[in-house]
Amino acid sequence: MLETYNVEIGKVKELSELDIICSLEKAYRDSFYLFNIDRLWKNYADMLTAFKSRYEDVIIGYSYKTNYVPALLKEMSTLGAYSEVVSRLEYDLALKIGVQPEKIIFNGPLKGYDDIKLALDGDSIVNLDSSYEIEFIKKYMKESNKPIKIGLRVNFDIEMNGINPVQNGFKNSRFGFCTTNGSFEKAINELKEMENVTVVGLHGHFSTTTRSLEVYKKITTTLCDLGKKYLSGTLEYIDIGGGMYGNVPDSMKIDYVPTMDDYAEVICVILNREKIHFEKNITLIIEPGLSLVVDAFQFYCRVVDVKTNQDEHFVLVNGTIQNIKPTMHSINLPMKHLRIGKKQYMKGRFNVVGHTCMEKDYLSIGLVDEIPLPGDFLVYNNVGAYTIVFNPPFIKERPPIIAQEGNKLWIVRRLEELNNFINDELYVY
Ligand SMILES: *Cc1c(COP(=O)(O)O)cnc(C)c1O
Repeated sequence: MLETYNVEIGKVKELSELDIICSLEKAYRDSFYLFNIDRLWKNYADMLTAFKSRYEDVIIGYSYKTNYVPALLKEMSTLGAYSEVVSRLEYDLALKIGVQPEKIIFNGPLKGYDDIKLALDGDSIVNLDSSYEIEFIKKYMKESNKPIKIGLRVNFDIEMNGINPVQNGFKNSRFGFCTTNGSFEKAINELKEMENVTVVGLHGHFSTTTRSLEVYKKITTTLCDLGKKYLSGTLEYIDIGGGMYGNVPDSMKIDYVPTMDDYAEVICVILNREKIHFEKNITLIIEPGLSLVVDAFQFYCRVVDVKTNQDEHFVLVNGTIQNIKPTMHSINLPMKHLRIGKKQYMKGRFNVVGHTCMEKDYLSIGLVDEIPLPGDFLVYNNVGAYTIVFNPPFIKERPPIIAQEGNKLWIVRRLEELNNFINDELYVY
């Protein structure tokens, strides 16, 4: 059982950042994540409204891998979200959270026979990614006479105007059954031939660099067209995956960021137009990760020292680049300087550097402002997606995570200790 540590601040109406620091300072002198539950609820509500106001039948399946802090997963489940998992480990985690198997969407390129069996026995939504899984379905049908429903992840070209928006500029996505070389058709036919197997879903998640409306237009249209061609009598859901933008701070200087309403509009217009071609009611499934959680987490770290090497100022904090951007990209995340106590500040150019021994451990590069001083806190925003899950145990304990809801603060992950860092149950000394 996770021990909870309640810092109740009854009288404060809105907790300011300083209130938070002051109340946590005694317990945590160093760095921590703050998980803003109110923000999460708002993001979820806004997303649901954007889609439900345009299309009746919508399921939001939260992508576990984006951030699987159990307290967050519990909130998602309370909100009514399905759990989108991409491994048996995540599947088991969903069960541990208390999610009903019917509310688990099982995707991902690697599933074992036992994993598929467990998911099918539990009536989870299963989307196959490769033909080796079809052999598992055959085996399952031999062992069980239970009628099952299956979805297929689809692979197609999303190139637009000669540019492929797939992440990292890859020419082709590696996922799903390819629609242009016959493997999708072959899979559909094989599954259709099996007794008691019905193909009910088409899935098309793409991680793109543009996250543009055109991408979603293309995904939705293609899935509808394939559905019409192959599955007009049986299709029950179209799953367009995740990959949308969440709240993007101005400082990140991205030209055009669609809102959730923009995404919902593009997707739902197509579905509302196409749904008449299907015998069954079509459920729209979306699988957001980043767009739900990115701005629900902040990272607080304390300034330990400021030093000048040659003519450059280095602000050393009790945190590391891996706490805020484990992919170590070079864009500065929005950062707020919390001045603690009364000090005299100098303006200048400075870098914020972390506690590891890597030269590239820069949390911010080349900021021009008042130079923070020891004892101050720096707050990094928008660190909710693909951060905590990528934090390796490296050099120093991972920071604790504190949840905030209204005026209440409590711990949802304690500060790591040596035994957690190098687990005695795993390692042999
Ligand atoms: C990663 C992933 C998502 C979520 O992507 P975000 O960019 O975090 O929204 C959804 N579906 C699948 C299949 C994924 O692999």
